Amino acid sequence: MMRKQRLFTPGPTSVPPEVLLAMAAPMTHHRQAAFEEVFVRVSEKLKSVFQTSSPVVILSGSGTAAMEAAVVNLLSAGDKAISVNGGKFGERWGLIGKAHGVEMNVIDIEWGTAVAPARIEEGLKHNPDTKAVFTTLNETSTTGLTDVKAIAEITANTDAVLVVDAVSAVCADELRMDDWGIDVVVAGSQKALMLPPGLAFAALGPKARAAMAHSTLPKFYLSFEKALSNLEKKTTPFTPAVSSVIGLDRSLDMILDEGMEPLWARHRKLAEATRAGVVAMGMALFAQSPSNAATAIKLPEGFDGGVLHKKLRDEYKVTCAGGQEHLKGRIERIAHMGYYDQFDMLVVLGAVELALKELGVNVRVGEGVAAAQRYFAGE
Ligand SMILES: *Cc1c(COP(=O)(O)O)cnc(C)c1O
Repeated sequence: MMRKQRLFTPGPTSVPPEVLLAMAAPMTHHRQAAFEEVFVRVSEKLKSVFQTSSPVVILSGSGTAAMEAAVVNLLSAGDKAISVNGGKFGERWGLIGKAHGVEMNVIDIEWGTAVAPARIEEGLKHNPDTKAVFTTLNETSTTGLTDVKAIAEITANTDAVLVVDAVSAVCADELRMDDWGIDVVVAGSQKALMLPPGLAFAALGPKARAAMAHSTLPKFYLSFEKALSNLEKKTTPFTPAVSSVIGLDRSLDMILDEGMEPLWARHRKLAEATRAGVVAMGMALFAQSPSNAATAIKLPEGFDGGVLHKKLRDEYKVTCAGGQEHLKGRIERIAHMGYYDQFDMLVVLGAVELALKELGVNVRVGEGVAAAQRYFAGE
């Protein structure tokens, strides 16, 4: 049977046709006025997205490039830092830090739960010479949301810079870098920013820029100092991913035309409808404090989630994401970050219900879709 391909993975995500078309334009050279105008424009627009007046550095690479850049530009070997391992991406902060000889104090929490800000406070009291706190706004591997606002109130009174991985959360979950007092926000292009993979971003507040001056970890390609001094000259130190920057110009227009508050509200609605649908079909939610970027379905005990994932992907052409590490086979994740609307969620919920039913799980077919529809109808 002919089927349409539909993508519901938490990165890469669907890219709007207008962005794809903008990226298909003939190549321009990056050291010419026409491109420099685009570059300056996107750098300004990114500030609105991150809700900051500080500069936003654009790197060519996936989101992890911005994470590694934050580590090597803020710290020196032997420095102390705190990270939270509550999933794959929080774990990554610890691994990157260790790879560079940073003394990482890793707070281990059960995957799917959120870190209590008091644990960060304790960690900072225990090691007052901690130089950085690394957190994850939406822990994409579990879809758990972290209260970074509360954590920022704690780090504000210390010398530690607060770095927030908002790769999958920016645009989907409320995030106010300056108002909340976050020092660094990192993001990537292939999540709610509605672009293909290839660009990474780091918004650098004043406390972070001051910390950069003391950092002695080796850096070259990922140097924030090089990126910032070139940004002042309307350019980049190395060849940027030109087509992606041009696509970004278009996607940021779509984002800012919608407006940040309505954008967050749309994601909240998509998330709440999806969560209502999952519960109504008889499944449970995995994350304790779920993000609005994606929803993780907790699958029944003893059920092999891999089979569900493959059926959705290979038979229905509805590609979601399974679980990672010990969550493999235990959860299925549905993204609703970026280019998604209410009807997309009805499709994916309908597909999940049908697939579960065909696999012999006792779901109430139609109940999930109906609950989401009722949510959208305001009932
Ligand atoms: C996607 C993602 C990243 C970056 O992953 P890349 O594969 O390097 O783009 C980092 N953190 C979170 C929370 C993510 O969702």
